[in-house]
Amino acid sequence: MPRSAVFSQRSLILTLLLLLGCGFLATSLISYFASRSAIRDSIINTELPLTSDTVYSEIQKDLVRPILISSMMAHDTFLRDWVLGGERDTAQISRYLNEVMGQYRAYTAFFVSSASNNYYQAQKGVLKQVNPQEPRDTWYYRVRDMTAPYEINVDLDMANQDKLTVFINYRVFDYNGNFIGVTGIGLTVEAVVHLIDDYQKRYQRQVFFVDPKGDVVLTGSNGGADAIRVGQSLHELGGLQDVLKQMPGSVTGSHEYRGTDGHSHFLNVRLVPELNWYLFVDKREGAALDKIRQSLYLNLAICAMIGLVVLSLLNAMVKRHQDNIETLATRDSLTGLPNRRGFDLLAAQALLEAQREPKPLVALLIDLDHFKVLNDTHGHLAGDEVLRQFAQVLENCLRLSDIICRWGGEEFIVLLKDTDGAQAREVAEKIRLRTEQLKFTFADRPITLTTSIGLSCLQPEDTLHSLIARADHALYRAKQSGRNRVCVEMLRSDYA
Ligand code: GH3
Ligand code: MG
Ligand code: MG
Repeated sequence: MPRSAVFSQRSLILTLLLLLGCGFLATSLISYFASRSAIRDSIINTELPLTSDTVYSEIQKDLVRPILISSMMAHDTFLRDWVLGGERDTAQISRYLNEVMGQYRAYTAFFVSSASNNYYQAQKGVLKQVNPQEPRDTWYYRVRDMTAPYEINVDLDMANQDKLTVFINYRVFDYNGNFIGVTGIGLTVEAVVHLIDDYQKRYQRQVFFVDPKGDVVLTGSNGGADAIRVGQSLHELGGLQDVLKQMPGSVTGSHEYRGTDGHSHFLNVRLVPELNWYLFVDKREGAALDKIRQSLYLNLAICAMIGLVVLSLLNAMVKRHQDNIETLATRDSLTGLPNRRGFDLLAAQALLEAQREPKPLVALLIDLDHFKVLNDTHGHLAGDEVLRQFAQVLENCLRLSDIICRWGGEEFIVLLKDTDGAQAREVAEKIRLRTEQLKFTFADRPITLTTSIGLSCLQPEDTLHSLIARADHALYRAKQSGRNRVCVEMLRSDYA
């Protein structure tokens, strides 16, 4: 195969590979990025805000009733009369608080008196006395001094093994508007925790509450190993620092950040003003995009496979086509032997090898006798058939390594590799004899055929041209001396 053909075939395959590869890659990537941006949009604009809304409304719903109950307690005449009457019978207030607690399924119910500093609790009666020096009681002094009628405070409940509790702290006044204490009920945040658990489990998103200092105050109970825990600071959660910097200002809205886990996260933040907490709903991008990433890889793998199959088919086709063209160009169509073009390629190589080694090489120039007459007598088709059969005789008399060629018309040339003059003469003689012995019939008429052969041996200074020219001379002598014979070249030394 000529070098240029090899190159053009290779560059054709490479170009196609490049085109197919770029096409497949482009379509796969475009569809990947389109679905990715659709998924991101839906996470940022729909999923996370929706979760946030639901959790928020659940909290609001849970808080409305307790606020009403606490308001009712603060305005209850029994409670106020009992306080104004000197807080005499603790059992009475305990029963009252117990009734409220049982009736409204609160977690705890309490009253703190400003006159006695007693902390009354539903089941435990006087739980303790509040004390301005006690850090756990600061809430009471805050509520005492504030202007709003009530506050919602999330704190640990001493009466209930320090469970995280949402307290509604309602200020109580006597009939003249003087402050006489704080009452209200407490609720556990278990309902909210269940809701968060549900979200975390079902939608692989983290839901947690953060106070204005940036500490996590509430989250689900069944988070995994890398789940955010109560008490953690956002400072510890890589990438959230930027969010933290905006707190407590304009933090609400959507954020994107890279977590310490190396993944990209989407985040929705909203303020829950009733609690003065921020509700964080966080989703890892990876979990959402794993599926479409997998389908991208599958796409690419399928494309690569199709590309490879198409290219290998194409390669095989092009190669077969080229081989066909080459065969056509270098073979004679009548006899199937190499033509002059084919011979030139093979002969040049053989000559080079013989001269380099050095090894003997012999050329036989073969011409069928009186072929014109044969054509004239039996017709051109008979001539063609004779040529075909003679080509077979030639091939049968030679080795695979020898080079045969239809030189033109009814002339053939043979190069015998690694063969000296005597051996070559035997081969030529065999060809001559077998041709003579061939039994042809064409249209039931017998045809006889003989051949004349000129033989020349390769000399060190020989070119292909000079070698064949000497064989031609020998052939001429064979014809001259009566045909149907083998003649060996006459070297200068022969004349001497
Ligand atoms: P000589 O013994 O001197 O070689 O006599 P010749 O008739 O063989 O010599 P010449 O070279 O004058 O004639 C060759 C003939 O071979 C002429 C041509 O018509 C015939 N020939 C050449 N090629 C083909 C071919 O492909 N098919 C057939 N049927 N005949 C061919
Ligand atoms: Mg001839
Ligand atoms: Mg002839």
